[in-house]
Formats: sequence, structure tokens, C-alpha cells
Amino acid sequence: MECDTCGADAIHHAAYSGAHLCGEHLRRSVEKRVKRRIREDGLLDPDATPENPDRWVIGLSGGKDSVVLTQILDDVFGPDPRVEMLALTIHEGIEGYRDESVDATVELADDLSMRHELVSYAEEFGVRMDDVVDSDPENMAACAYCGVFRRDLLERYAAEFDADKLLTGHNLDDEAQTALMNVLEGDVRQVAKHFDASLGAFDEREATDAFVPRAKPLRDVPEKEIALYCHVRDLPVHMAECPHAEEAYRGEIQSLLHDLEENHPGTRHSIMAGYEELAGLAAEAYRGDDDGEGPALSACSRCGSTTSRDVCRKCRLLDAIDAA
Ligand code: SF4
Repeated sequence: MECDTCGADAIHHAAYSGAHLCGEHLRRSVEKRVKRRIREDGLLDPDATPENPDRWVIGLSGGKDSVVLTQILDDVFGPDPRVEMLALTIHEGIEGYRDESVDATVELADDLSMRHELVSYAEEFGVRMDDVVDSDPENMAACAYCGVFRRDLLERYAAEFDADKLLTGHNLDDEAQTALMNVLEGDVRQVAKHFDASLGAFDEREATDAFVPRAKPLRDVPEKEIALYCHVRDLPVHMAECPHAEEAYRGEIQSLLHDLEENHPGTRHSIMAGYEELAGLAAEAYRGDDDGEGPALSACSRCGSTTSRDVCRKCRLLDAIDAA
């Protein structure tokens, strides 16, 4: 199998486009799509200046997606004085897993001379995920606790850094799985939230969003191509899977999507094209429903984070863990 462009040995066949790519052309193709997404989402504030730069927090876990995101953002915007970037790594307290991926984040941030903050659930909340899984007071999957804690820290540190945007490394497979799950669960409000929380249209969101706007610049790139990109560039990455990853439903959707993609290449792209349009319509409809104001948000009476209740979900979970 030869690369369509240069005739060198191909390392990948992208069935959805028909392209055969060697390492170098896979690298260029991934970078091109990420840059196009950044442009189309209007990630860089046109009013940013070296005196008043756009400030971005990047969620850097040390896994392949966040490592590729950080590397490409540094390639493109590292020398640009209109952008300030901070890589944020969160240690959940998972034995035999997170220590290795933290090493990868330190190596990458050092290589790039990027500002890097490392925070942990143990220091911030007095809990470790390994212990939370053992006590499990709410009888939930580990990821349900972990996601609440992680969101809280990302938001808090983004606010502390006075960030304009929070960037995460979700890829095309992650996004197509989430889209399909939301549709199959019939959760239209969640579909609307997806638009508000993760797509472009920053201007549109400013008026309604009490949270730091999010962006996912890798969301057009399939997971396999991100793994190959890491390999081609020899990036420091930690590939192991979290021992608590047990979102059974997501696993089912993942294998369903894998089979669909095998038999009908391009399925993930078409799901996302339709879903993003649908999410925009749903977001608009719910804003109208709420007189443009959305649910009433206030500060959590315990920790001050933004919530629609008196006490936020994270504080309620911590209470339950304490009591267990
Ligand atoms: Fe946390 Fe689940 Fe990710 Fe493990 S797989 S780090 S428990 S969200």
C-alpha cells in the first residue's frame, strides 16, 4: 500500500475518504484538519493583542488526545504573543495509572516550555478516586464521580487563570459516541448543552454562558489517526487504560459505532454533521423556552462554584463520600 501523495509506504488507509497516507502525510493531514477547526470555530479572539492576549487553559492528561492537542497548539500558537496557554493536569489518585501519565505531561510541558499546573483530587477535595470507588456511596460508575470532580477543577482553574477558553482533546470517536448516547437516551436538553458547552460560535455563547467557553479542536480527527500521529512524532504519551473505566453503555456504543464505520465508512462524520446542527437548533429552542436566561445560576453556598442548586453536585458528592 503506497501513499497517494508521495508513493512512500502508507501506514494508514482512511476508508471514509479513501486516502492512503504515509507517516508524513498523515501528520500533515491531521494538522490541517485541526487548524481548519480552530479557524472555523473562531478560537482566536480577533481583538486579542500582545498586551491583552487570549488566555487558554488546555486539559493535559498525558493520554494521546491531550498530548496531540497541546503539541499542535504549541506549534501553531506558541510563538504568537496574542495567545497565552496554560496546561492543566489533574491527578485523580488512581494507583498504577495516573503517575505514569503525569510523567508524560511533565516531559511534554518541559519540551515545549509551556506553563504547567498539576492539581490533585487529594489536595483539592481530600479524596482519591481509588478510595471513592471502594466506598461508592451513590452506587454509580467511577467516571460519574470523577467527571464531576474534574469539571469542577477545570472550571475553577480556568477562572483562576482568567481564561477565555478551556480546550480539551476530545476526538471524533469520543464526540460521535456522546452524540449517539444523547440521542438514544432521548435527552434533548443534553443535546442543547453540547452545543453551548463545546462547539464554536463563541460570540453567541457569551451572553448566556456563566462558564468558561470550551473548545475541542481535535473533534474532526478519528482516534486511530491521533494514535498514529503520536507514533509518527514520537510524542511522550501514556497509552494505558484507566482501571476504573467502566462506562458499560459507552462501551456498547463504541463497538456499535466501530461496526457501523467498518461497514459504512464516514458514519462518525455524518453523525456529527447532523448532531451539531440539531444541537444548535435545540440550544436555540431552550434559550427561547427560558426567556433567554437559562436556569437560574448562583454560587454554591459551600464552595462558591456556579450551580443551579443551593449546594453544588461536587459538594453533595463529597458529603456522601465523607458519610460512607
Ligand atoms: Fe476518571 Fe473514568 Fe477517566 Fe478513570 S476513566 S480517569 S475514573 S473519568
